[in-house]
Amino acid sequence: MVVAEKGKSEMGPEAINILMVEDEEAHAEAIRRAFRQTENNFNLTWVSSIHEAFDSLQKSVPDLVITDWLLPDGKGTDLLPSGKALFPIVLMTSHGNEKLAVEAIKAGAVDYAVKSPSMFAEVPHIAKRALRQWGLFTEGKRAVEKLRESEERFRTVFEQGPLGIHMAGLDYRLISCNSAFCYIVGYSDQELSELTFMDITYSEDVDADVEEARKLLAGKMPSYKMEKRLVRKQGGMVWIHSTRSIIRDTDGKPLYFLTMVEDISERKHTEHALKQTLSELTRSNADLEQFAYVASHDLQEPLRNVASCVQLLADGYKNKLGADADQLIHYAIDSVGRMKALINDLLTFSRIGTKGKPFEEIKCNEILEETLISLESAISATGAVISYDPLPVARADGTQLLQVFQNLISNAIKFRGDEPPKVHISAAKIGSEWIFSVNDSGIGIAQRHFDRIFIIFQRLNKRTEYEGTGMGLAIVKKIVERHRGRVWVESEVGVGSTFYFTIPNYSFALLA
Ligand code: ADP
Repeated sequence: MVVAEKGKSEMGPEAINILMVEDEEAHAEAIRRAFRQTENNFNLTWVSSIHEAFDSLQKSVPDLVITDWLLPDGKGTDLLPSGKALFPIVLMTSHGNEKLAVEAIKAGAVDYAVKSPSMFAEVPHIAKRALRQWGLFTEGKRAVEKLRESEERFRTVFEQGPLGIHMAGLDYRLISCNSAFCYIVGYSDQELSELTFMDITYSEDVDADVEEARKLLAGKMPSYKMEKRLVRKQGGMVWIHSTRSIIRDTDGKPLYFLTMVEDISERKHTEHALKQTLSELTRSNADLEQFAYVASHDLQEPLRNVASCVQLLADGYKNKLGADADQLIHYAIDSVGRMKALINDLLTFSRIGTKGKPFEEIKCNEILEETLISLESAISATGAVISYDPLPVARADGTQLLQVFQNLISNAIKFRGDEPPKVHISAAKIGSEWIFSVNDSGIGIAQRHFDRIFIIFQRLNKRTEYEGTGMGLAIVKKIVERHRGRVWVESEVGVGSTFYFTIPNYSFALLA
């Protein structure tokens, strides 16, 4: 017989489902009555045998089972699940018997009651108490399980993680080291347990580490990170990045140090190699600059002599040695002039890094106006129309900025098309930089040459068409890079070119 009864209040999600196993109808009725008189929201299902109880349990798991001890087809304790209990059980018996009570509790029942009319009236309270106890019991069990799980997780990370981990006492003695750490230092866990973590720290790094560990111990910081060297058992050093924290008990008393260790030797070696390459590069760059400077500087004097000799020859012997000789003298003068220009440009180039002036606040408009004055003859000879927007104040070397403008604007005029050149200069603030632009309406440059033109002596046109040494843009690039900027070109053949260069906006950097 299965009788289901709902509590008085509306069935909600929190309704308590109770399975009552009782073969005596009168007892069952007394208990049902007691439940009806409570304000609790419950569903009471009554079955009268173990067999029916099992059937009901198959269909759904109740929140509580209240069962008679002795039933026609078995004992109430038969309902106690052998493995994990999913519900609490309260056992009822007709006679008080201490041995039975102990047996019931041992079997897993949460409570035991002796049947009597007053007890039946009490069943709802007994049920509530059992549910409360069960709640505490399951909460406690869950907490232990959680602890075990988190311990398990930590153990997995400790044992199998790629990071070296060690725990050490407050005297720095190593208590436990995982295999990744043993691998890093080449010692066994056993060998390490005889050492402190300072014993395996490279002597030069010990003081810094001790100082930080003391601060950590004093509670001045939650953890600290450092890069340091460890000495391997086999000799040699390993660079590590260590993150150390301190584990405290619930009262905040320090228990031990927990340290995560990452082997960064490879990164350190790469950094070292990079530093070395950089310093070699800087040195060879300086050597080259020095060479270019000395060569161009020392070549000037003999060149001046050659130039004046050839000029004397031209002045004194013109029309006296025949047409061929005149032609040769003309070539010599022309070549000497070109050589002078090349050497001058080379000298300028080699001086950018070494002879530059310190940066100061420069009114770029004033520099541009000075540039235009210096280019006046080229401007009037070609009928060039130059326009410009207000330019900013920027931190730069004024003389070098003038050189940049001179080279870019003179190119814009020189590489003009059939029409008189139109040149426009402007500047815009983008993020942390000023971007300057020099736009022209000249012959333009094919995209494949965009990078090449900034290399020294690289020219795209014949000397007979356009004069030049091929140094102008290389000088621009070197000056802009000295100012920590970039230079590039956008252009279309037959339409014109725009050269861009940037200068960091230091006021932005200060604000940031
Ligand atoms: P140079 O002007 O002495 O030839 P640069 O280094 O100043 O040398 O320029 C390199 C080459 O880039 C030039 O020979 C020219 O072919 C090309 N170039 C530079 N500026 C312009 C421009 N505004 N328009 C077209 N081509 C240009």
